[in-house]
Amino acid sequence: MSRTLKGIQVSSGIGIGRAFLIDRRKIKVEKYSVDVRDIQREIERFHKALDLSKKQLLEIKEKLVAEMGKKGHASIVDVHILILEDEMLVREAMKIVEKEHVNAEWALRKVLTQFASFFEAIDDPYIKDRRSDIEHVGERILRNLVGKTISSLDSLDHDVVVIAHDLSPADTAQMHREKVLAFATDMGSKTSHTAITARSLEIPAVVGLESISVSVKTGEPVIVDGNDGIVIINPEPEEFRKYLDKQKHYKYIVSGLLKFKDQPAETLDGYHVELKANIEFFDEIPHVLSRGAEGIGLYRTEFLYMDRKTLPTEEEHFQIYKNLAEQISPYSAVIRTLDLGGDKITSKLHEADEPNPVLGLRAIRFSLKHQDLFMLQLRAILRASAYGKLKILYPMISGIDELRQAKAVLAEVKHELESKGIGFDKGIQEGAMIEIPSAAMTVDLLAKEADFFSIGTNDLIQYSIAIDRGNEHVAYLYEPLHPSVLRSIKKTVTAAHSQGIKVAMCGEMAGDPLCTLILVGMGLDELSMNASSLPVVKKIIRSIRYQQAANLAYCIMTLSSAEEIEGYVGREMGSLFPEFF
Ligand code: PEP
Ligand code: MG
Repeated sequence: MSRTLKGIQVSSGIGIGRAFLIDRRKIKVEKYSVDVRDIQREIERFHKALDLSKKQLLEIKEKLVAEMGKKGHASIVDVHILILEDEMLVREAMKIVEKEHVNAEWALRKVLTQFASFFEAIDDPYIKDRRSDIEHVGERILRNLVGKTISSLDSLDHDVVVIAHDLSPADTAQMHREKVLAFATDMGSKTSHTAITARSLEIPAVVGLESISVSVKTGEPVIVDGNDGIVIINPEPEEFRKYLDKQKHYKYIVSGLLKFKDQPAETLDGYHVELKANIEFFDEIPHVLSRGAEGIGLYRTEFLYMDRKTLPTEEEHFQIYKNLAEQISPYSAVIRTLDLGGDKITSKLHEADEPNPVLGLRAIRFSLKHQDLFMLQLRAILRASAYGKLKILYPMISGIDELRQAKAVLAEVKHELESKGIGFDKGIQEGAMIEIPSAAMTVDLLAKEADFFSIGTNDLIQYSIAIDRGNEHVAYLYEPLHPSVLRSIKKTVTAAHSQGIKVAMCGEMAGDPLCTLILVGMGLDELSMNASSLPVVKKIIRSIRYQQAANLAYCIMTLSSAEEIEGYVGREMGSLFPEFF
């Protein structure tokens, strides 16, 4: 019988295929005693699991090397193989089996727990990182001992619909290379980074389903409708047919919109809005250009630090930024400096656990504290700026002091490069993200010292309405059209224009077609979004007159609640664009 679940649609499109369950939870281990005569057999069983684990790791390594060359991800696998061969781990576990007459799983779990508390006591991020490596390897051996298949995206070799309790941004990053038709998770919300990555990779996705990971088994047929936030498990034949039709229709609409991709994003009366793309991965550039982007409005460089065990060197940063500058030419690219924190955590860089990571040492705060890392990144951006048009964007600026400090660090790096005779763009622009209410409230002061603004509505909404953007229980409060958010946007545009600087928006609101008219009418100079939203936003802009947009923006500022505004805008947009709303 078919079952239908409703969640939050985070990435459009329809994926139909067989489920592949990713189980990230720790494996449950039972304790049982082993007869003295069976100890040898228990030890052999353990060695078999070790051999199988090694075989699996070697296969993964081979696959990664074939796909990505020798370096990078494959070295993580080498570390895991070394751990697997570590005598201490094996010896300690065997000792427990022999002395306590217990099963190998139990013995291994005991050793892993001892290792974990030993590593926990050491206050060194590198060592802490090794701890998570050991845990990964330990879980692999345990799964092989109890005969559970290892569900990892590394081992995918056919098209699947990924189902998980939650996915880390690193998991989603891996989907980049894999054949993932769609994904659905228990956790998550529209602006969690997993959702953002899904949109930029154009993988249909529904999140916040609460219990999908316990409702589906690997291999069951599923439909993920990323347009309406619906997942159907074991669809009936007529549902299956209906969704195949819907999938075809969706593809038809998208291909129709793509006809405008090379036309300017201009209203009928010639008002131009720059439409740019947000990217997380450098190799998205050809794709975003094919969707009609006029440059990169946000490159989230923190993704350079994810899914790897060593920090990127200055040379690695430089090569990527240089390639970006060259490939995006004649357009420009905005490189946002490291914005780690919140749900974008990487074990390598993140220090002590913070009770409130979203309010913690993240983004520009982190960079200003770790100036060596910050300077390394700025040096690479400056050096790359000699090869094309690059701009620098500082994330999570809370007030003028942080902007001044960031600018002072850049000035120091410029000075250093100059003294060494290394070329860079002397007029490179420095922008501030407006995504914290304190910045929005003091935007007139920031406008005097920034070269441009970029409004990050994902965080601006999170901090204005005090809701965790990744928490599905408060997702209903996540209101881009809340009057407080609209007033902050308006205030930012007014302050920027009165100082003669441009204002962009790079939060997800910029790519929400329901908001396009309002944003154009409010005077945003640039909208930067995921590639998949570009065609529809462009089509809307090309179908209206500027005054229509300005009137709508004016009217909604007189309404009092998000609900009223959404209703009003929904009706207006529905009558103008019945094909989309
Ligand atoms: C934002 O907060 O709107 C933004 C664009 O930054 P991020 O989503 O990476 O936090
Ligand atoms: Mg942000």
